[in-house]
Amino acid sequence: AKIGGRSQTRFFDKSMTRDLVRRREIEDELRAAIQRDELSIFFQPIVDLETGRIKTFEALVRWFHPEKGELRPDEFIPVAEETGVIVTLGNWITAQAARVAATWPEEVTIAVNLSPLQIRAPGAALGIRNALREAGLDPKRLELEVTESLFVEDNHATAAFIEELSEIGVRFALDDFGTGYSSLGYINTFPFSKIKVDRSFVSGAQVGRKSDAIIRAVAEMGNTLGMDIVAEGLETIEQVQAVRDAGCNLGQGYYFSRAVPDYLAAMLLAQEREE
Ligand code: C2E
Ligand code: CA
Ligand code: CA
Ligand code: CA
Repeated sequence: AKIGGRSQTRFFDKSMTRDLVRRREIEDELRAAIQRDELSIFFQPIVDLETGRIKTFEALVRWFHPEKGELRPDEFIPVAEETGVIVTLGNWITAQAARVAATWPEEVTIAVNLSPLQIRAPGAALGIRNALREAGLDPKRLELEVTESLFVEDNHATAAFIEELSEIGVRFALDDFGTGYSSLGYINTFPFSKIKVDRSFVSGAQVGRKSDAIIRAVAEMGNTLGMDIVAEGLETIEQVQAVRDAGCNLGQGYYFSRAVPDYLAAMLLAQEREE
């Protein structure tokens, strides 16, 4: 049955069609981008604040579009999620990242971001296991970053995914901590080895004594539970000192390095080992 007037119906149909066409385009382009080698993984160091050494690299995807130039993940990951392409894309990212990490010294780990949708998809854990096996990477060297949004829904697939991969040694990090639906319940339920305190607490507009107290509280909890605490978005030496004083043991941000291509990541590691 037709609801509303004639023009309204037509408008609805048109905009819906347009939206579908646009999504379809980006979806096709994304799939093709993988084939055409337009996507690459960049690596941003996560540094031990005591020793200054790189402990982990976070894999961050980049899309070098032939016409649109460099696209940031914030622009296309949401589309990949909406269209379901994230499953193919995510498996590709994990496989690539694992392959690069396998060339690094053994003590250096790789962190890969996972979307909730990717985790809930059938065969998600198998996709990760295959990537590890094909790269010959020890599961203990892989860390999966998930956000609080994953736990909004109480989902059996999520729990099964985390359990299956934890059992083989894969570690989990809670990303963007403090921005979402923060609840200590899932920290208690799931085996996180790391909490990443969101950049907004470190370099946001409202940073001050309040954020400092929050970082301190999170770091104290983390230390007590034997978890690593990463401060994200460190851009200045003052911020580095502040988060170290607050009890964070790891740091990430432009102060240390932006995300760099694999050959530069290898150079950073080689430099450290020469010193
Ligand atoms: P995220 O996981 O919180 O990643 C950190 C983001 O902060 C990255 O942006 C990084 O370049 C940026 N960043 C790091 N240090 C600093 C700093 O000191 N200052 C500032 N202003 N920014 C800093 P990027 O690469 O644009 O990624 C944005 C988001 O896109 C990521 O946030 C993550 O949620 C998502 N993303 C990136 N790569 C992937 C991926 O491979 N898979 C999935 N599912 N999501 C991804
Ligand atoms: Ca992340
Ligand atoms: Ca983050
Ligand atoms: Ca984020």
